Amino acid sequence: MIVMKFGGSSVADATCMREVEALARQALPRRPLVVLSATAKTTDGLFQAATRAQDGDLNTALELHQALIERHRGIARDLFPDGVPEDLSAAIQELSGELELLLRGVALLKELSPRSMDAIASIGERLSTRLFAACAGAAWVDARTIVRTDATFGCGEPQTKELNALAQTHLAPLLAQGRIVVTQGYIGATAQGLTTTLGRGGSDFSAALFGAALGAEDIQIWTDVEGVLTCDPRIVPEAQPIAELSFAEAAELAAFGAKVLHPATIQPAVEAGIPVTVRHTRRPQGRFTTITGQVRTGRPVTALAMRGPVTLLTVTSANMLNQAGFLAKLFDAFARRAVSVDLIATAEVSVSLTVEADAPLEALLEDLSGFATVTVTKDRAIVAIVGERLKLTPGVTGRCFGAIRETNVEMISMGANEINLSIVVKAEDARQALRNLHAALIPGEEGGRP
Ligand code: ADP
Ligand code: ASP
Ligand code: MG
Repeated sequence: MIVMKFGGSSVADATCMREVEALARQALPRRPLVVLSATAKTTDGLFQAATRAQDGDLNTALELHQALIERHRGIARDLFPDGVPEDLSAAIQELSGELELLLRGVALLKELSPRSMDAIASIGERLSTRLFAACAGAAWVDARTIVRTDATFGCGEPQTKELNALAQTHLAPLLAQGRIVVTQGYIGATAQGLTTTLGRGGSDFSAALFGAALGAEDIQIWTDVEGVLTCDPRIVPEAQPIAELSFAEAAELAAFGAKVLHPATIQPAVEAGIPVTVRHTRRPQGRFTTITGQVRTGRPVTALAMRGPVTLLTVTSANMLNQAGFLAKLFDAFARRAVSVDLIATAEVSVSLTVEADAPLEALLEDLSGFATVTVTKDRAIVAIVGERLKLTPGVTGRCFGAIRETNVEMISMGANEINLSIVVKAEDARQALRNLHAALIPGEEGGRP
């Protein structure tokens, strides 16, 4: 079997839905499980409505609700010009009622817990999959009966053992019937049946989890670009599709800001040894990226990404000199305050590290003040240069720094796997640095990768 995951822009309207149906139909001999995101902008709309309700502005929340439901009814009418099937209308009506109740509850209490937010967010994928199931005559499966997670609302941790068993029991027999089967990305449920989500952009992760659970031949991520490009095309328009990418490269790119794949997607695929392909829904015959364990030789630099803003912390202490255990003490403080660290570079008496811009630093800084001096520098960005051959190619770092000689580099970190050279710069300099690096390190299309 294969997994075909379609993102929000791929199911934005009736025409898109029909295209997805055609792709799934062509793939029928390979027994496709179709995993859908909410239609474009829907999840954002649900977050907005929930926030308005939390502010006590129920009217605006209900207006947003109305517009969102009307948009889905419009897609249903476009799909079925001769009359929307009764069960589809009823399903939309039921989801509309559920959403209204949830928003009224939030407005009444003026409280929006991650648990309520997940219940609200789940409406998007439940709507899009109802539309698609009706359009394609597909078997509809509620992902919450399969994707078992813990109770970390907003970012549920999948319980893979249970998930795999549930997928085998409930999905495998349906797929074996030779029908198109559709389910939701992004959502899951706890053992008690409480709705959870896997975090924003989590449908890619869902696709990989389903693929691993069912032993898929291929996990296909269908989106609005011809695969993973050498850089975010919104920053570098000349970015080109990459034909082949290693799992490690893809994981680095996703973690360092390439929004095209959810960072957690790769892990289940790697563990199960299943290739992931990234393809353009509107150009199915076009180019695409295959992500696998083994890569052929290629250019030293495969792709670039950036993430920001982040905060740079420089921790200085004379005690570091000759004192065993300083770093253990330092990271223990981070662990206790649950602040996660991205990049690290150490010098004789100081350590530089980056943390998320919204990391809760107050308590941590107080703990650290007992044994070190800390400088906090906000509004920085990480520019990541990624490539399997980075470590093997003499002179490539020289070319990197030559390309950004005008930029003030505040920290450098070569990832332990030696395929990621990360540079911290001022957030306002990051885009230009990325363009300069792309121009210098990723020459035209002739030969080699991409
Ligand atoms: P979907 O809704 O299908 O999940 P996303 O919007 O999450 O799609 O991801 C696709 C988008 O990611 C592209 O339209 C592109 O703007 C952006 N993007 C950022 N970096 C990259 C990259 N390196 N390669 C391809 N797309 C990228
Ligand atoms: N619909 C969810 C989101 O917008 C999940 C996804 O699209 O991957 O975050
Ligand atoms: Mg996405």
